[in-house]
Amino acid sequence: MIHNVTLTASCMTCNTEDTVTVTVDDYHQYSWGNKLVQQVWPTLSTWEREVIIGFRTGVFQCQDCWIKEGDEE
Ligand SMILES: [Zn+2]
Repeated sequence: MIHNVTLTASCMTCNTEDTVTVTVDDYHQYSWGNKLVQQVWPTLSTWEREVIIGFRTGVFQCQDCWIKEGDEE
């Protein structure tokens, strides 16, 4: 039986929450197995991976803010 877990990361700029749903097994491979996020989830988009990394590290910026900050430079 596959158990899913929903990971939530809050944008450090605008506080928008993004979520990604993954299996518990996959998340354990990432959090305990020392695997890179792209090794565990090769098919996820860059932004979905960013949410997972943000959930783990507490540092996350949503796509909208990332694009806005990019425009200001
Ligand atoms: Zn944001």
